[in-house]
Amino acid sequence: MKPAPFAYRKARSLDEAVALLGEHADARLLAGGQSLIATLNMRLSAPSLLIDINGVSGLDRIAVKDGMVEIGALVRHVQAERSDIISTHVPLIARAMPHIAHAAIRNRGTLGGSIAFADPAAELPACLLALDGEVEATGPQGKRTIKAQDFFKGLFETALGPQDVLTAIRLPMATPETRVGFAELARRHGDYAIVGLAASARADGVGLADVRLAYFGVGDTPLRVRKAEEALTGGAIDDKRLDSAVAALDLDPHDDIQATAPVKKHLAGVLLRRVAKQLTEARA
Ligand SMILES: Cc1cc2nc3c(=O)[nH]c(=O)nc-3n(C[C@H](O)[C@H](O)[C@H](O)COP(=O)(O)OP(=O)(O)OC[C@H]3O[C@@H](n4cnc5c(N)ncnc54)[C@H](O)[C@@H]3O)c2cc1C
Repeated sequence: MKPAPFAYRKARSLDEAVALLGEHADARLLAGGQSLIATLNMRLSAPSLLIDINGVSGLDRIAVKDGMVEIGALVRHVQAERSDIISTHVPLIARAMPHIAHAAIRNRGTLGGSIAFADPAAELPACLLALDGEVEATGPQGKRTIKAQDFFKGLFETALGPQDVLTAIRLPMATPETRVGFAELARRHGDYAIVGLAASARADGVGLADVRLAYFGVGDTPLRVRKAEEALTGGAIDDKRLDSAVAALDLDPHDDIQATAPVKKHLAGVLLRRVAKQLTEARA
């Protein structure tokens, strides 16, 4: 199918992008276009104007700032995949990147686009939540910061306002005690996951503390499972603790086109065992 007709403007600055959003209530920002263009072609969306932000300078950098890694909204997936800063300081993102789509899509798709689109089966929103990261949004009143836990509001729905541009995400830098884990089950490598799990924790003696487990593909948003997190906390990760964490999994997935709810729940338990094992391994 072809998209409905739309006008196109290339914004040269953030101010211009924000102003254009204010002038056109049904405009959409265009970043990598890897999700947006598909929704236009399928006529799931018919904005009157596309505001291309690819010409806005300063949004394509990865930098360490105040103990956080700041990733500009226009950083492409491939750039993150190859970044030394990311592999050294945010190893969870490095682990997740190869699971996102295929090389051609990763060449164009942006981290900002993925977080703003908030697909419930996408890897990066779950990583942002597992890492207790934050989003920087720029709107008519300037910049503001939104914590990951407050950002994902519903199915493809975020805390971004109609005139907001997501300008960066910020993630805490890993320490020597940081442990991360990532696994997903997809029909083919690169497909959206049937179920996935992104996790972070702090090594604490023989066990783990500050466990954060963020599932994707099992609800309208990425979801933490607090009871399973508690069950994994505080002692050696042995079979008994793993069994109780799986039994405590507080998830209530719905059927979707990929799998039934019981299958998803079962797969969530399988992933929990795999990821818990990764969390016990120190980084090489
Ligand atoms: C075949 C295929 C397979 C895929 N598989 C996966 C997968 O396995 N996992 C996965 O996570 N993704 C997958 N994707 C999506 C891909 O990762 C996209 O790149 C990403 O979801 C959106 O990034 P984008 O830069 O292309 O955004 P765009 O498509 O340009 O925009 C997406 C939406 O976000 C908005 N937006 C974009 N940037 C901003 C911003 N800075 N501020 C505010 N709003 C903004 C747009 O207005 C639009 O509504 C797949 C895509 C395809 C086509």
